[in-house]
Amino acid sequence: MKRTSLLSAQILLLASFVTAQRLPNIAVPENYKLNFAPDFTKDNFAGEETIQVRVLKPTSQIVLNSAEIEFHDADIISGGATQKAKITLDKEKETATLAVDKPLTAGAATIHIKYTGTLNNELRGFYLGKDGQGRKYAVTQLESTDARRAFPSFDEPAYKATFDITVIADKGHIAISNNKVESDTPGPGEGKHTVKFATTAKMSSYLVAVAVGDFEYIEGSADGIPIRVYSTPGKKQLGAFALEAAENVLRYFDHYLGVKYPFGKLDLIGLPDFSAGAMENTGCITFRESILLLDEQHASVDLKKEVAGVIGHEIAHQWFGDLVTMQWWDDVWLNEGFATWMESKSVEPWKPEWNPELDDALETGRALNADSLANTRPIHQAAETPAQILELFDGIAYGKAAAVLRMLEAYVGPETFRAGVSEYLKRHAYGSAKADDFWSALAQVSKKPVDKIMPTFVKQPGAPMVSVKSRCSGNATTIALEQQRYFYDRAMFNRGSDELWLLPVCLKTAPAQAGGKAAERCELLTKKEENFTVTGCGPWVLANAGAKGYYHSGYQPEAVQALARDVETALSPAERITLLADTWAAVEVGQQPIGDYLQLAEGLQADRNRAVLEQLFKQLDYIGEYLMNDNDGDTYQAWLRRLLTPVAQQLGWEPKPGESDEQKSLRAQLLHILGYTGRDPEALSEARKLTEQVLKNPASVERDLAATALRLAARNGDSALYDRVLAGTKSSKTPEEYYLYFRTLARFSDPRLLQRTLEYAISPEVRSQDTLSLIARVMNNRAGEKVGWDFVRLHWAEVEKAGGPFASSEIVGAADSFCDAGMRDEIKDFFTTHNVPAAERTLKQSLERVNYCVDLRTQQAGQLASWLERHGSSTGK
Ligand SMILES: [Zn+2]
Repeated sequence: MKRTSLLSAQILLLASFVTAQRLPNIAVPENYKLNFAPDFTKDNFAGEETIQVRVLKPTSQIVLNSAEIEFHDADIISGGATQKAKITLDKEKETATLAVDKPLTAGAATIHIKYTGTLNNELRGFYLGKDGQGRKYAVTQLESTDARRAFPSFDEPAYKATFDITVIADKGHIAISNNKVESDTPGPGEGKHTVKFATTAKMSSYLVAVAVGDFEYIEGSADGIPIRVYSTPGKKQLGAFALEAAENVLRYFDHYLGVKYPFGKLDLIGLPDFSAGAMENTGCITFRESILLLDEQHASVDLKKEVAGVIGHEIAHQWFGDLVTMQWWDDVWLNEGFATWMESKSVEPWKPEWNPELDDALETGRALNADSLANTRPIHQAAETPAQILELFDGIAYGKAAAVLRMLEAYVGPETFRAGVSEYLKRHAYGSAKADDFWSALAQVSKKPVDKIMPTFVKQPGAPMVSVKSRCSGNATTIALEQQRYFYDRAMFNRGSDELWLLPVCLKTAPAQAGGKAAERCELLTKKEENFTVTGCGPWVLANAGAKGYYHSGYQPEAVQALARDVETALSPAERITLLADTWAAVEVGQQPIGDYLQLAEGLQADRNRAVLEQLFKQLDYIGEYLMNDNDGDTYQAWLRRLLTPVAQQLGWEPKPGESDEQKSLRAQLLHILGYTGRDPEALSEARKLTEQVLKNPASVERDLAATALRLAARNGDSALYDRVLAGTKSSKTPEEYYLYFRTLARFSDPRLLQRTLEYAISPEVRSQDTLSLIARVMNNRAGEKVGWDFVRLHWAEVEKAGGPFASSEIVGAADSFCDAGMRDEIKDFFTTHNVPAAERTLKQSLERVNYCVDLRTQQAGQLASWLERHGSSTGK
């Protein structure tokens, strides 16, 4: 599954609340025959199922998962005898127990059930959606624990079975499922047709998919596999880019993994109502239409990258998750970490100009950021209840697991890693796997201690900081490396802790003479402290050469200054990204003054790399937004303008024919930072001009720039502008255009306008899937923190209802951008009385982040002021 917003990641021990909700291991399913007949006049469906099971030991009852299902009839056939089953429901545990008078013997048995289910409005189970014209469709979303809402089932990932699915649909509707259509016949009765699908491969219940509605499609293929992109009526032409991406990605995986795509056909369906970002149902991937369907001529670079990445992610899941499934949710990283690792890898051969490896370096930085909280969690994390399982879909399962895989790949070498991954897939195809199944396969293939390294990253929370001290003697440098768990919490960091990682570290030493080549070597750090010797004496040693390592590096102040001097010539873009992140990490814990970071920024003045500057701008925005005393704002803005105006002038605000996607992205980033944090009059006037053009003719402005321009204009915008932006949501022609306006509604500063946005968010005009993201965006707008938070408290019941399964975590997660002790206490108080079982860890993390922000401002504001006094006065414009 792919979440839409990556909530900052998380912890903790829910153990005391854990009540096991697993099924008793008495019977295992082998085949399900499922028959669904949706009724759009009653918003429900008639269901009939036959489950072939193997009874493991004599028993008089079988327990299935079931929720919001109305049973009509249940029989169990065993040893030639049919017995009626008595059904007992346990609402809390979401089970149905089928009891028979005469015990079933071990061996084959058949369960037959007739029932009615609801086509609900909750975007889970078998649910109801509507397109822009109000036409209804029905579709499933079953991960993690909602197959039980569509059909009574052994709803745990390890119970894999084959599925024979049949749908009775209205004439004019089509039905789509995991496998190809085997037959499509008229009836039963007037106005219906019956669509029967071929038997699926063996798979988990959460991967079953059914979609029924008046969908249309475009079609292509890759390696003989037919690929279709479906949409609701009128949008199929917007699927061309996704189709091309899917064809390229599928071909890549066939080649890379050495295991051909195993499921016969592949459908990608764009849905107007969908709670997650996308879902990897076997052979039948569902998406929010906004991250599948786009107008290729006008779409932003960012959206194209996102769509391609999500397609790479979901198609990767066809192997990592669908073919080989984690045995239980505690290893969900075997799904999400691999799929995330594969996103950029699978897109790279198709779109090398996007430099996806640099986005990987940015992603590693975000994962380290989440993992530096005291309330983070290990990658492998126990979880029993549906709420606990849901909370595992976080930045640790996705971003950290992917970053650790990248490190491991660099350590054993790409070809060996590929052979290990392929071996793992072959060993466990159509079955289940645990974490150690993966690393034992890789250890065997690589003959390296992968099985010793991986547990230190998967079973321990947090990430190390590797401190580097180098000493020259004669013509040799002794490099002393020390590892220690990194915490944002200065007290915890300084106190130290016991974790020890087996850590692949790659070192790069300064060239012996100017213009020379830097030397590199890789080592495995196995102790807290270790020394290495290299020949020659240079002014610095970089501790994360290649930027593949999952750790922070800590340097002596003079080494940072020396690195800042050579940063452009001696470090690759990915290494520059990492050095920026590491220097900031040192600032966070008070190891370096904030001025060193700004010095490093000055050292990067000639840098034009989109990703390096993205990393830098993020931090410079943060400093301007949160760390500034009231009096220093002007000086900081002036310093920023002096630093960045030359870059903007060189690039120009006017897009040039034939320029790269990277340049387009960089221009939008520059417009944002100069206008928003730098308050640059020229950038702001450019933004106003572009906003006028967008509102008159959206196609006349490049989409990357349009989003930034609208956001800047909204900051000082009045109600007249607000009305025009709101009108834009109604006249938009593509999902991207809709969200361009929709998101701008959260960027105004006037509290009355933001209040309108909040009311709008919970009104029927906004799809429930979008309610929370709009409220969260208001909360993340500094001008909207208070009005957003007050609104959430006042309307909590509506907010929770609108949000579906991710409700609490999205709002609780959004509070992490506050930087105020009073607000922190309010959040704490409010959630003491309002339970958020799927966001318990997220809540602790948000509170922790607010604390650090407050602490960092106290710690660094004075240093920042004095640095600016010394460096910021001789400003340009
Ligand atoms: Zn996923």
